[in-house]
Amino acid sequence: MHSLLPLIVLFTTLFIQSLSAQGIVDCQDTQNYVPDNPLYTPLFRVRLVLHIFQKDDGSGNFKSTPADLKFINWIIEQVNDKYRNLDTFRLPTSSIYIRDSRVTFVVDTILFHRDTYAWDLYCHNRIGEQQRKCDSIYKKYVLENSMLKYRTDAIHAFWGEGCLQKDCPAKGLADGIGSGRWFCVINTYYFYQQNPPNSWIPAGNIRHELAHMLGLFHPISYNPPGKGEDYCEDTPNYPEDKGCWNGPDCSNNMAGYNADQSSLTACQLGRIHYYLAGNAGSLHNAVIPDWCTYNKDSVVLIPAYSRVVWKAKKFFQGDIRIARNATLQVHCQLHLPHNAKIYLEPNARLIVDGGIITNVCEKQQWGGIIVLGKKKNRKEAVKLLNGGSLERSQFIIQYQKPVD
Ligand SMILES: [Zn+2]
Repeated sequence: MHSLLPLIVLFTTLFIQSLSAQGIVDCQDTQNYVPDNPLYTPLFRVRLVLHIFQKDDGSGNFKSTPADLKFINWIIEQVNDKYRNLDTFRLPTSSIYIRDSRVTFVVDTILFHRDTYAWDLYCHNRIGEQQRKCDSIYKKYVLENSMLKYRTDAIHAFWGEGCLQKDCPAKGLADGIGSGRWFCVINTYYFYQQNPPNSWIPAGNIRHELAHMLGLFHPISYNPPGKGEDYCEDTPNYPEDKGCWNGPDCSNNMAGYNADQSSLTACQLGRIHYYLAGNAGSLHNAVIPDWCTYNKDSVVLIPAYSRVVWKAKKFFQGDIRIARNATLQVHCQLHLPHNAKIYLEPNARLIVDGGIITNVCEKQQWGGIIVLGKKKNRKEAVKLLNGGSLERSQFIIQYQKPVD
């Protein structure tokens, strides 16, 4: 009989260990950021500043005329339309289909510069030269330009030309993966001059460069072939993507080389939201901080009797309402704006398990938690586990009688 005791102790220990292993949530796992539920994924608006480089005499690119500005805005509209309405996948994938990426681009300013040197972004089609030139342009026209309203808090798009051949491709270059600094595109004006003007190819080109800025690598393996290098198992990889530009057997993935530039897998969207939330890179700086302004109409509802678990950083713009008998489990950082409150209806539960509910804006405090219901249910309503905490709130918890 006595010999059984150590075994029981051992099993109990193993059981507790396995439970705590399950409980550990990695807030840095990009796959926890997949925006599969738009209700719990606020739209991220990324600020853009467009820099149109003309030649010294003002020729060679768009001008500030109503017709040109209309076309430029039409291109941006097409960029945003696809990010809002992604296409289904043309090549086989294990990914679920998510229609809305929950990211949109807002052009704050369109600047026209006369600079023949900067205008030639084709750079004899040499990437190293393009990279150096765009870096120097960024320094001169952005970082050292004190007149500019948004510098490090916008993505700067440099629109150049310079291809002097008969047939020019739309090309581009992004500063980096998850970068909030700059990208450049070449030959947008060249396509505008075609008859009829072609906005489709430049829009795809811009979507592709923005996909890099948002955190995506090419889903193409260069060496050795066959092995993905984009950290996404669900992207159709080389050799499927190789040299296939347009057709039923070609990829339409936004990060690949193809005509459509119109689909994103769940893994890719997870990476994008990981960067948007500020976990890596400088992209987060370029996101318009809508979460710092309380919006009374932006209520996040946890439906009655449901259990919702958040394993990613969240930035909300209004109150959270946890309906009757529902549970919300928060494992990572949850931001709420000034005055925003979390309402718990009778028998609702809020569990902050290793996470933190806070406010990340200057001189702000979120409201606090309001628990509605009879006294006997109150004790169980809010639980802090594994170092979970509440900070920067006006009050912690208030109890109120339900109004019904
Ligand atoms: Zn690329």
